[in-house]
Amino acid sequence: MKEIEEFFTYLRFPSISAQPAHHGDVRTCAEWLRDWLITHGLESAEVRETAGLPVVLARSKFAKGRPTVLLYGHYDVQPVDPLELWRHAPFEPVIEDGLVVARGATDNKGQTFAHLLGIAEALLVEEGELPVNLILLLEGEEEIGSPSLGAFLEAHREELRADIALVSDTSMVAPGRPAITTGLRGIACLEVHVQGPARDVHSGMFGGAIANPAAVLARLLASLHDETGRIAVEGFYGDIADPTAEELRGWAELPYQEAEILAATGSAALAGERAVTVLERVWSRPTIEVNGLTSGYQGAGSKTIVPATASAKLSARLVPHQTPEAAAELIRRHLEAQPLEGCRLRVEYDHGGNPYLLSADSPWIAAAQGALAEVWPVPAALVREGLSIPVVEKFKSILGLDTLLIGLGLPDCLAHSPNETFPLAHLELGKRLNQCLLRRLASL
Ligand SMILES: [Zn+2]
Repeated sequence: MKEIEEFFTYLRFPSISAQPAHHGDVRTCAEWLRDWLITHGLESAEVRETAGLPVVLARSKFAKGRPTVLLYGHYDVQPVDPLELWRHAPFEPVIEDGLVVARGATDNKGQTFAHLLGIAEALLVEEGELPVNLILLLEGEEEIGSPSLGAFLEAHREELRADIALVSDTSMVAPGRPAITTGLRGIACLEVHVQGPARDVHSGMFGGAIANPAAVLARLLASLHDETGRIAVEGFYGDIADPTAEELRGWAELPYQEAEILAATGSAALAGERAVTVLERVWSRPTIEVNGLTSGYQGAGSKTIVPATASAKLSARLVPHQTPEAAAELIRRHLEAQPLEGCRLRVEYDHGGNPYLLSADSPWIAAAQGALAEVWPVPAALVREGLSIPVVEKFKSILGLDTLLIGLGLPDCLAHSPNETFPLAHLELGKRLNQCLLRRLASL
């Protein structure tokens, strides 16, 4: 079938953005996409330069009065190592039990291509007209953290003016159970440095008389939470928005709860805020985590010193309406108010990103729920993710755009892993979803 052949051609480009040896392939892949879009009825399609790898930018025929939808996807993929764990060559797609196996199958070529097929078919039937004005933005650097996308969006703000962004780069809940991701947590990264004696000193000669910065740091870090798992930093919960009762009811029914989180992590028990459910802890509550700790001697045997310094890397996950700068400032003030026993403390804010939330009662969500119901009989779950998707934050902060995140992948699609898959049936389902969704967005 022609559509599957074209999908396989798309998958055969080893468009690995992380590896300079493949940058030629990234570019060839972009050119192939441009040509495919032109052949399939888009009004314009171009390979556009950025400071790094190019984006493909395409548009449908524009008409006044229609809403404009910015459909985003990425055509770059993750590296493939370790190669020996693949059952087939990663860029030679095969179908096994209804699953397409190839690097990029789900992340993000399959999910994007399903939309592109929906658009191409609609353009063919409707003689070049879509129900919305469509801008397609296909990135070549997503898997390396989108280093050039922000500047590209800034420079082309007018050209990219739209009403809503649409991204399929997340997961369904399970086969047959679609999901709309309404929220993503933000982040604030900090470093904490504790300085004790001027140099590492003899623990026999001086130990007991001066503070040990490693022990001081341990107490500082322990002070960040109380015994119920709540963050003990004053004001930290001040700005946060609770999920709605309807969201919480939906989350309680998901097949992803305590047992699944314990199995996924290999942890023996849950921790964190005892007073809230496990999905609230990872989706709608802020956290402060220690990501790394350094102090003193770490080589073989022992070395009897009081170390001069101790440091920790921290990251806080943030929820609406926290901001990374304000959260970092509250943590700094909290740490500075603790007993330092003569040590000096330095807290540095490194970088951060804002949380994102599309209100569950937004008309965009209602339109998406309606479209999903036309394709899958089970109502779409409204979920959140505990991590950030930088492009979503950039769309919001640079273009002022909300994003509909509707995944076509499955949780076990092995994105970023060997033997990545995408259900072949989702090509057709995604194509239908695209058409239903654009029609519903057009009527808002
Ligand atoms: Zn990825």
